[in-house]
Amino acid sequence: MEANIKNNLSILEKRITAACVQANRSRDEVKLLLATKTVDAERIKIAIAQGYPLIGENKVQELRDKYEGIGTDNCTRHFIGHLQTNKIKDILKYGVSCIESIDRISVVEKLQQLLERDDRTMDVLIQVNTSDEDSKFGVAPEQAIDFIKEVATYDRLRIKGLMTIGLFSAEERLVRPCFQLLKRVQQEAIVLNLPNVEMNELSMGMSHDLEIAIEEGATIVRVGTAIFGERIYPDSYYWNEEGNVI
Ligand SMILES: *Cc1c(COP(=O)(O)O)cnc(C)c1O
Repeated sequence: MEANIKNNLSILEKRITAACVQANRSRDEVKLLLATKTVDAERIKIAIAQGYPLIGENKVQELRDKYEGIGTDNCTRHFIGHLQTNKIKDILKYGVSCIESIDRISVVEKLQQLLERDDRTMDVLIQVNTSDEDSKFGVAPEQAIDFIKEVATYDRLRIKGLMTIGLFSAEERLVRPCFQLLKRVQQEAIVLNLPNVEMNELSMGMSHDLEIAIEEGATIVRVGTAIFGERIYPDSYYWNEEGNVI
């Protein structure tokens, strides 16, 4: 198991490095986020120990269940799953330093309220639905700028950039436009020079499409399968509203 994860990571590292070379970018411009849904703490720790301290969970329950086992000193936690307002208080309890999946004002209001209570701030990314699939969350691209402006008025949230899940397709010509679209929204937002908004992070690219994402400017690639192997649950389990298996 340990050998597998190490081996997978070394293959992945080569892919990331090659993509950076191809895109004329420096390797340190791209962070690898370990997408750890369904993966237990022991296996996650093996990957962290290989020099990849950034992890991302989709569900509050998994965040909580693995919190002790993984610990806090050796890693940084992002939340990359669909947010429910009633679960936000738990996200704040389990060491999450950035929520990548901000896409509704109801969530933003609740987050602001809890952050005020705790007298703290939270880094966030705005999730944009660049693939126009109903099954995925995120603000519509044409509404993204207005949404960013509105979120920027909530002073406990620090907008650090954007996140997207690209179209699931083996066809590069269909996937690449998703990432290009996210980049365009980023450029548009930068020009506005909004208070409280830094647009440095573009979280895009997963196991099957990270090369394209890196070419289009990704600063965070979120990878699960290529490190930990195939998951038993379909991704719809993690991406639909109620979190029910369908
Ligand atoms: C699972 C997941 C990933 C990683 O997907 P893989 O195809 O396993 O690399 C990335 N981002 C999000 C939001 C995910 O839920």
